[in-house]
Amino acid sequence: MRLLVVEDDRDLNRQVSAALEAAGYAVDRSFDGEDGWFRGDTEPYDAIVLDLGLPKRDGISILEAWRKAGRTTPVLILTARDRWSEKVQGIDAGADDYVAKPFHMEEVLARLRALLRRAAGHATSDLAVGPVRLDARAGRVTVDGAAVKLTSHEYRLLSYLMHHAGRIISRSEIVEHLYEQDFDRDSNTIEVFIGRLRKKLGVDIIKTARGLGYVVGIEDEGGATAR
Ligand code: CA
Repeated sequence: MRLLVVEDDRDLNRQVSAALEAAGYAVDRSFDGEDGWFRGDTEPYDAIVLDLGLPKRDGISILEAWRKAGRTTPVLILTARDRWSEKVQGIDAGADDYVAKPFHMEEVLARLRALLRRAAGHATSDLAVGPVRLDARAGRVTVDGAAVKLTSHEYRLLSYLMHHAGRIISRSEIVEHLYEQDFDRDSNTIEVFIGRLRKKLGVDIIKTARGLGYVVGIEDEGGATAR
C-alpha cells in the first residue's frame, strides 16, 4: 500500500510519514498544495492524508479538483480543532474521513486502515485467505496460527494482494503500490519478492496468472476456495 502525505508543517509531515512507514506503508511526502495536487492527480495512491491549510493551493480546492477529475482515492483530511465548518466543507468536497489537530497518531493509523479496507471492500482489518491471516492493525501475518516474519516490502506486497484478493494484479500495478516515488523501481524484482513470499508462507495462495500478473484467493487445484 502506498500513501501520500500532503502537509506543509515539516515536523508534522515527518512524524506522520514516519509513523505510516513504521506501520508498513510506502509513503510519498508533499509540502505544498500545488505539488500535492499534482502527485495525487498522477500517481495511483491507495490513500491520501491531506492537510487543508496549505501554501500555493488549499486542501479543499485540491480535493474538489481530484474528485471532479474522477479520482476516487480515499482521502483523510487533517482539520483545525473545533472548526466544524471545515469538516463539513471537507466532507462535502469529497473527503472520506477527517482527524482534528492535534491528533494521536494511532487515530490517524486506525482511520487510514478503515479507509483502505473499505476501499477494497473488506469489513475488518483482519484479512484471511485460506490458512493465511493478515492483521493490518498489528501488522502481523500468520499461517495456521503461526507467525511468519516478513520484511517490510514483503509485508506490503502481501497486504496489497490480500486487500485485493480475487483480482489479478499486474507486476506494474504492484510496483506502483509497493514503492515510494523516488525508489529505483524494477518490475523484475517483483518475481523475486513473490518467490520469497511463497517460500516464507509455505502455502500456495499466490497464483501466477501467466502473462498477466498474480492473484490471491482463487480456487486451487484441490477445489477448495480460499477466502
Ligand atoms: Ca497547514
